[in-house]
Amino acid sequence: MDTMNTFRTWLDESSHVLVAAGAGLSAAAGYDYGDTRRFAELFPALQRLGLRARYQLIGLRLPPPLLWGYWSVHVNDIRFGAEPNPLYRRLRALIGDREYFVLTSNVDGLFARNGFAEDRGWTPQGDYARYQCETPCTEETWASSSIISRALAAYDPRSGMVVDDTAIPACPNCGGPVFLNVHKGPEFVEAPYRQAHARFARWTHDLADDARLLVIEVGAGLSTPGVVRRPAEYIAYRTPGARLVRINPQHPEVPGALGDRALSIAADITQVLDHDQAGKANR
Ligand SMILES: [Zn+2]
Repeated sequence: MDTMNTFRTWLDESSHVLVAAGAGLSAAAGYDYGDTRRFAELFPALQRLGLRARYQLIGLRLPPPLLWGYWSVHVNDIRFGAEPNPLYRRLRALIGDREYFVLTSNVDGLFARNGFAEDRGWTPQGDYARYQCETPCTEETWASSSIISRALAAYDPRSGMVVDDTAIPACPNCGGPVFLNVHKGPEFVEAPYRQAHARFARWTHDLADDARLLVIEVGAGLSTPGVVRRPAEYIAYRTPGARLVRINPQHPEVPGALGDRALSIAADITQVLDHDQAGKANR
């Protein structure tokens, strides 16, 4: 396919890469919030209540024992797994020695867990590895691994509940309800991500005149376009000579204002990587 070859050429010609990634990337990597089969395996009790997929749980109010039953299993699965992820590793290998930065709406830590530098990523929607007060009474946030493992230890898969009240997490400061430090509403505490935001802004502003920036956007759809999709377009637009590659099976269209500096690839990232690898073998 011509677009795949153009992508390879643009990558070869780039010195800097901005990876802009949405939920579609983690879905392709095996963490699909719409996967009904895996949901039924992991959450039989919630399935009996009529729920079918993880995306339905975002922002859903449930009684605390059921709420923490779900979130402890989910976060343990998606955030604290120790296994390397092959797709993220392949994406890292694709970028090679180029200067890079990552902007992602994903809160699963999969970039940093798969070879991307911690200080070259900005996660404006938060991170499951932290939790915060729901009120919030303070801007302080805390590492979530201990509350997740505590809730999991008291988790009963048959009822889907955390069966020990003392394993339901509470705010260390005011004793009130807590939630993971991820953006679901105005209570979100974004303080932990301010420094990364500043690094990201500096990186995109301080590109040298001769820098050849390639923005590779993967799986960023239209549900929250202001987080990844629009910023990716804008950075490509305002940076002289920059190019944008949009990899998205459902919404691959690119803005006309970018002209021949934008490439639309209506495919899954896995297909793109497979094609590139096959092409490499023949080169
Ligand atoms: Zn509090």
